[in-house]
Amino acid sequence: MDEHAWLHKSTEILTDIKTWRQAHPKATFVEIEDEVHRRMMELEAQVLQEAAQASASREWGKLSEQPAPLCPTCAVPLQARGRRQRTLQGNGGECVQLERTYGWCPMCGNSLFPPR
Ligand SMILES: [Zn+2]
Repeated sequence: MDEHAWLHKSTEILTDIKTWRQAHPKATFVEIEDEVHRRMMELEAQVLQEAAQASASREWGKLSEQPAPLCPTCAVPLQARGRRQRTLQGNGGECVQLERTYGWCPMCGNSLFPPR
């Protein structure tokens, strides 16, 4: 993904809000606030996604990276089982797509996304 997608997103939102404002010349302050808020939630989701995606914890499956997280049940190191898309929901109800390393526990056989 574009490393600065949020920058493009914020520019896009500013432009969209200006366009929206022109299409709604009689909008009240509250209506404008709602529209701006709605669009800012999209930006928040974008920034959240990039910040979470950038964290080192997703790289635990690779060599020379940090040690594997432990199974929450057995406390044995999880084995990396490839990367999968994980959808998380933000506070505002916006969906965030993250690519995370999926873990498999050799003790209990559980497959999970490490809780961090
Ligand atoms: Zn386990």
